[in-house]
Amino acid sequence: MDSKTDSTTTSEGLAIGIDLGTTYSCVGVWKGNVEIVPNTNGNRITPSWVAFTNEERIIGDGAKNQSAMNARNSVYDAKRLIGRDFNDPAIQKDIKSWPFKVANVEGRPKVEVTYKEEVKQYSPQEISAYVLTYLKETAEAYLGTPVKDAVITVPAYFDNSQRQATKDAGVIAGLNVLRIINEPTAAALCYGLGTEQTTKEKKVLIFDLGGGTFDVTVLQIADGIYDVKATGGDTHLGGEDFDNLMSSFFIKEFTKKHKIDISSNPRALRRLQAACEKAKRSLSSGTNAQIEVESIAEGIDFNMSMTRAKFEELCSAPFQKCLTTVKNVLKDAKCDKREIDEIVLVGGSTRIPKIQSMLSEFFDKKDLCKSVNPDEAVAYGAAIQAAILTGKKDKALQLMVLLDVTPLSLGVETQGGIMSVVIPRNTTIPCNKTEPFTTTENNQTQIEIPVFEGERPNTAGNNLLGTFELTGIPPAPRGQAKIDISFDLDANGILKVTATDKATGNKNEIVISNHKGRLSEAEIAKMIAEAEKNKEADLKVRKRVEAKNELEGYAYSVGSTIQDLKNLSLVEKEAVDIVIKHTINWLEENGDSADISIIHNKRRELEEAINPIMGRAYKN
Ligand code: AMP
Repeated sequence: MDSKTDSTTTSEGLAIGIDLGTTYSCVGVWKGNVEIVPNTNGNRITPSWVAFTNEERIIGDGAKNQSAMNARNSVYDAKRLIGRDFNDPAIQKDIKSWPFKVANVEGRPKVEVTYKEEVKQYSPQEISAYVLTYLKETAEAYLGTPVKDAVITVPAYFDNSQRQATKDAGVIAGLNVLRIINEPTAAALCYGLGTEQTTKEKKVLIFDLGGGTFDVTVLQIADGIYDVKATGGDTHLGGEDFDNLMSSFFIKEFTKKHKIDISSNPRALRRLQAACEKAKRSLSSGTNAQIEVESIAEGIDFNMSMTRAKFEELCSAPFQKCLTTVKNVLKDAKCDKREIDEIVLVGGSTRIPKIQSMLSEFFDKKDLCKSVNPDEAVAYGAAIQAAILTGKKDKALQLMVLLDVTPLSLGVETQGGIMSVVIPRNTTIPCNKTEPFTTTENNQTQIEIPVFEGERPNTAGNNLLGTFELTGIPPAPRGQAKIDISFDLDANGILKVTATDKATGNKNEIVISNHKGRLSEAEIAKMIAEAEKNKEADLKVRKRVEAKNELEGYAYSVGSTIQDLKNLSLVEKEAVDIVIKHTINWLEENGDSADISIIHNKRRELEEAINPIMGRAYKN
C-alpha cells in the first residue's frame, strides 16, 4: 500500500477532480462551488483518445477528429486495457473490434503504433497518463496556477490491479493522486451537494450508463452521511455497444446492397462508427436519423437512415441487461424498489429516451432525477472529494462523509478448502479486521495462507487473489499456535493481508495490488448468482468438511490426552493408539469423499472404543 495515494498533505494550489472515462474524460475544480473546466476547444468533456502521427502526438478532440484518417495509430479505450492481462478474455474480445494493434509484452497488453516513423509500444497507463496530462494542463490554463493534486475516479468494480494502474497513470502524468474513488460514489456526492440536508433517511439509486461502463449503486443518505449499500454493473456495457450494434447492422445492409464488405476496412469502420454515434445522439431527441459517409469504400457513398424504434430494437438486449442489473443491486442492498426515494441518472447514455422510460416504468412511473448533468456528475463529485481531502472548510463540504463498500467477501482458505470470511461482502471501506487462526498439524512450523474473494463457502468456487507463507512458528501440538490474520482494505480498495504469530511476533504480509486473477464485474455477478444457486449443495459440502475436521481434531486431541494419562497401562495406550491411527488413515483415504453420515459413524465408533478406556482412566 502506498501511503501517498491517501495523502492529505498537498502541494500549493488547487486540487482537481478527474473522471477518467472509457470514451470521454472530464475535469472539475472546487472554487466555493464546482466548476467544470472546458478544454481548449471549449468542450466540457474530452475524448479519452491519443493519436500518433509522423509529426506529433495529439490528445483529446484533435485525436478523435483525425482518427478516420489514421485509425491504426489512434488509441482509445485504454481504460479497458488498464491493469489487465493480455490473455484476459475480455481483452481478447475487444482486440477484435479495435483498429489499433495490441501487443503481448510479457503477458501485459501494450498498444503498438507508428510515431514519427518509428514503431512504438505504449502501456495503457502511459496512454491514460497522456489524457491525464492534457486534463491537468487544461485545468492549469483555466486556473492560471500549477495543479499537482487530484482525485481520480474508477468504475466501482475495478479490481486492485486496475486501481493501482490508474494511480500509476496519475503519477506518470505528474499528479499527486490524493485518492482513487468509485465513479457512482462521486456521482452521489455531486447529487448530495445539490440536495437539502434532511434528517430523514433517504435511499437513492444511481444509474450510471456512460460510453463504456455501467454502474448501479444504492445509497443511503442520512445526516450528510453517504452510505453505499450495494453496487453492481458491467465494465463492458455502454454507449459504444449501442454504436457497435448500429454499425454492425449497417455493415450487413451495406454488403447486401453493394456487395462490399467493409468489416475489415478500419478507416471505413471508424467513419461509420462515428456517424452511428452521431445518429444515436440525435435519436435521443428526434425519431429518425440519417447516416451519411461520403465515399466509404470503393468510391461509394454510405447513405441510410435509422428510426428510433429500430435503434431500440437493435439495442433491446443490452437495455434489458441494464434493468436486470438494477434488480440485482436492489436485491443486494436488501431494498424494495418502492423504498427508493430518488433515481439519479449519470453518464451520457442515460439521455436515451428508452433507457429513461424503462427505468421510470420499473419504478412505477417515478420521476427520474436529471438535475445533475449526466456527463459531468462524476468529475463534479471527484472535485468535491478533492476539496474535502485538501481540507477546504466550506460548510457544504463539512456536511459530507463518504462511505464505500467491498463488492465481494474476502477471506482465507482453512482446512478442507473452507472459505473463512474475514471481511464480508458489502462491508463499508476503508476497513480493518483481524481473526484468530491456528495450525492444523502437530509441530507445524509454517502455514500457507491463500487469500480468496467470493461468496461460496468452499474456496474451490471462489477466486484466489494470492498466497503467502508464515514461517518460523515454534513447534507445538496442532491448534496451539495463535496466528492473527488481519485484512486491511484501504480507501482505494487495495488489500493488505498480514499474518502474525502471537508467540514470537513474527509476521508476513501480502499486498494484493497487481494480482492477475481479479475478476471482471460480469464474473463477480456470475459468482454471486452461482453462490445463490448452490447454497444448499455448498452447505452440505461444508457440513461434511466440518464433520471431517471435527473427527480429525477429536482423534488427535484424544490421542495426546490418553498418552499423557499416567494411570493407564501400556497395553491400553497401545490399543487407543491403534484405533486412532486407524481413524486417521481412514480419513486420509476417504475423508474427502465419504458421506457425512459415514463420517459421523466413524466418530461414534471411535468414541465407543475410547470412552471405556477414558472412563477407566479417570475412575482410577
Ligand atoms: P460518458 O462516458 O458518460 O461521457 O458517456 C458518453 C456516452 O454517452 C457516449 O457513448 C455517447 O455516445 C453517449 N451520449 C452522449 N449524449 C448522448 C445522447 N444525447 N443520446 C444518446 N447517447 C449519448
